[in-house]
Formats: sequence, C-alpha cells, structure tokens
Amino acid sequence: MASDRKNVPAIDSSELKDLTEKLMTACHILDHEGVTDGYGHVSVRVPGADAFITIANVSPGCVTRDRLIMQDFDGNYLAGANTPPNEWPIHACIFKARSDVESVSHTHSKWSTIFSVLPIKLKPMHHYGKFLSADGPPIYEGIGLVRTVERGNDLAKALGNGPAVLMRAHGDAVVGESIEQVIERTTRLAMLGEWNHLALLHSEPRYLNAQELEVYNADQRFPMRGWEYYVSRLKDRR
Ligand SMILES: [Zn+2]
Repeated sequence: MASDRKNVPAIDSSELKDLTEKLMTACHILDHEGVTDGYGHVSVRVPGADAFITIANVSPGCVTRDRLIMQDFDGNYLAGANTPPNEWPIHACIFKARSDVESVSHTHSKWSTIFSVLPIKLKPMHHYGKFLSADGPPIYEGIGLVRTVERGNDLAKALGNGPAVLMRAHGDAVVGESIEQVIERTTRLAMLGEWNHLALLHSEPRYLNAQELEVYNADQRFPMRGWEYYVSRLKDRR
C-alpha cells in the first residue's frame, strides 16, 4: 500500500526539529557509549505518516542534520540526504509490522553478537533487564545484511511483539515507544550482555525469573534521568 504522502511534513520543518535533534543525539550517545562503531543506526517514526527518519549512509557518531534521510515503509526516498543506509529494511519492516513502535535502533554490539552465536541465552540478571522476558531476546537466524524487504520482514517476525532481537553473527535490533526508551534499552542490553559474560565466567548465574521481573515491572514509570545522564556525557564532544 502506498504511503500517505499528504501527511508527511518536510524533513527540515519546525514540526520535526526537536525529533530530528533527538535522533542525532541518540546516535551520538550510542557511539559515545561504545555500543555502535562505524555502523548501526537509530530511526524514528514520522508522527502521523507511514514514514520514518534515520541516518543516511554515515556512522552514527558522525551524523549531522544534512545527513538525515526520510523514507516510507516501502523504502521509497522522501527527503533529506539521498543515500539510504544499507540496512534500511530493518526500520521500514519493523515500523510497518509494529504500530506501537516509535523508534528502532540497530547496532553491531559485541555483546549481542557474542550471545547470538552461543548456546547460552542473554538473560535478565539485573532490574535493568526488566524490559526483557526471563528467557531473554529471541535470535534472528538469517545470515547477511538486512538489505531486502524479505529479510526485513523475517527480522520483524523474529522480533514479534518483543522489545529486542539478537541477530546471529551480526548484532541486534531494539524497539521502543520513544527515542529515549530505545536508547535506554539499547545501552542496557549491551550492559547486560557484558554482565552475563562476566557472571558466566564464575558459575551459572541466578537469573531473574518471570515472577521476579514482574515485581520490577509493577513500576512502569520511565524516568528521564538515564537519558539526561547520557546527554551530559556528550558535552565534551560538542
Ligand atoms: Zn547491521
């Protein structure tokens, strides 16, 4: 189905200024925290339209306003720098499949990659992992970059209704209701991967079970202090 172009605001409109600013900040955070390297991207849904904005073919840490791109959910170019990232279908297919998702990140996180190839699941062992199920995120088994809609749909299927999916021998994709939530989840997934790795060096960890996760999830507030903290850590590079 063709996207509804009538509702698409201009990428440089005042309406989208805060959102695009936040998107660039999100990319800089993932770079600064060492979750992404020269590759990876964050995207955001354009409010009220079948479209999203992500970074053009540029490293997350290097993104500037003139290197943002807007595409529809079929991958058609709408506005901005006309060099779509190789793996745009990750974003397009997840947004199309999940109307509850406002933002998506894709990283080549070493921690997600390690647990994507081991017979051991990355599981919640701290309340930072309360957004995950007790079994941890599923794994998308497809090998190779997600450069086609077919692969993107397979990835979205592996993600299901969850918050994150590991991508075998590749990285991860994380979704959320806001850019801030996606950054919190993406950074915490990396922290949990590292902590799982460290704990497993000693013995079998006592992971949090479903009932224990429910205790933490009884509180669904989303404090902004995590986002503020990461933004504050960018001040020296701006
Ligand atoms: Zn990738």
